Amino acid sequence: MTRTRTSTAVVIGGGIGGLTAAAALHQSGLRVTVLERASSLRPVGAAISLSPNALRALDVVVLGDEIRGLAAWQGDGGLRTPGGRWLSRSSAEAAEARFGGPLVLLHRSTLVERLSALLPPDAVRTGADATLADPGDRDRPARVRTPDGELEADLVVGADGIRSAVRRTLFPHHPGTVYSGFTTWRVVIPVPGVEFASHETWGRGRIWGTHPLGDGRVYAYAAAVAPAGGHAADERAELLHRYGDWHHPIPAVLAAARPEDVLRHDVHHISEPLPAYHRGRVALLGDAAHAMPPNLGQGGNQAIEDAVVLAHHRQDLAAYTAARLPRTTAIARQAVKVARLNLMSNRAGIAVRDAVIATLSKAGPALFLRGFDGIADWRPPQPPYASRRTQVGEHNER
Ligand SMILES: Cc1cc2nc3c(=O)[nH]c(=O)nc-3n(C[C@H](O)[C@H](O)[C@H](O)COP(=O)(O)OP(=O)(O)OC[C@H]3O[C@@H](n4cnc5c(N)ncnc54)[C@H](O)[C@@H]3O)c2cc1C
Repeated sequence: MTRTRTSTAVVIGGGIGGLTAAAALHQSGLRVTVLERASSLRPVGAAISLSPNALRALDVVVLGDEIRGLAAWQGDGGLRTPGGRWLSRSSAEAAEARFGGPLVLLHRSTLVERLSALLPPDAVRTGADATLADPGDRDRPARVRTPDGELEADLVVGADGIRSAVRRTLFPHHPGTVYSGFTTWRVVIPVPGVEFASHETWGRGRIWGTHPLGDGRVYAYAAAVAPAGGHAADERAELLHRYGDWHHPIPAVLAAARPEDVLRHDVHHISEPLPAYHRGRVALLGDAAHAMPPNLGQGGNQAIEDAVVLAHHRQDLAAYTAARLPRTTAIARQAVKVARLNLMSNRAGIAVRDAVIATLSKAGPALFLRGFDGIADWRPPQPPYASRRTQVGEHNER
């Protein structure tokens, strides 16, 4: 008689990608342990925009509709100049019609909370700094070292973010990340009594975006070309200096923000794609595999896509690499190009850029929507677990 045992997965990193992978693997019948170095799952960062591709991936773990219901639907608004002129306008309906679903915005902590609620209560260990001790192979489980001892696993997921130590262990000759050439600021705050339309505004080597979060708060972000490693004693004052004379509602957002509300992060990305997203029994996902500039808003979306595709190919990691590496490499390259375009510093180039955007947007759908073609229309390889619960079960011992 064949003895069966439940396959095990250890996920290193409890960010958006790691938790989605944990949920998808758990729903596939694996016993999952998530090891998160931080003392809680509270994510750094402010809000996150999710496009229809990631929402469809969340449908697989039966979370898509809940997130669509909780989040603010995006798309009404457009692209402006610092003086306030609209270069291009779009609507939420146009976004939905083009991609078969909405673009949404929500606080990161809401997403993390909902993802962790999909897991058994003992699945997540916080304060657990993990190291990949052995990637394993066909005949040998992988091993992960934790402060409480070693864990063996049939599958290890390296979801440890942009500075991934798992990536360095699997691919020690890969050059890692490069500085993307710009820094970012983010705030999530109430801005009472201020009416405004969602916008992203492109200036000279600087951008700013303001969007309602749907819970009374506003998410605002800014990016500017700057040397790496810079920090101001008061980041709000720094923002006032750089953006204080831009159009409404930017001065009002800055007036409502306190210095401690402002997060600042330099942006780095992986410029040279990895040779694979797996080795032995270990798969990389999210920023660990393909950190990209945030200018397309796809880093987290791709991490979520990776997670459900990985659960689908959990017994054939080469198929996971084949499904994910070309797509994420193309999207990361596109994000670098968009960053160059919206953070352009050359005055003559900016005049041409703005004229082209305005003309193109009069003739057809807003540039903002076209930028998502081939990205937002993605569909996951499997239906939601809710419709196939009977297939979830035990795995034969190898
Ligand atoms: C300014 C800005 C705005 C952005 N906006 C968007 C957006 O709107 N939409 C979008 O899709 N993406 C956006 N992104 C990108 C997005 O934030 C990332 O792509 C996403 O968070 C990646 O998720 P992840 O799970 O791969 O990594 P992370 O979120 O970085 O999670 C990695 C986790 O691993 C943990 N960890 C690391 N090492 C260890 C270890 N040794 N042991 C245990 N745990 C460990 C970390 O503590 C962390 O919790 C933005 C990025 C920036 C900088």
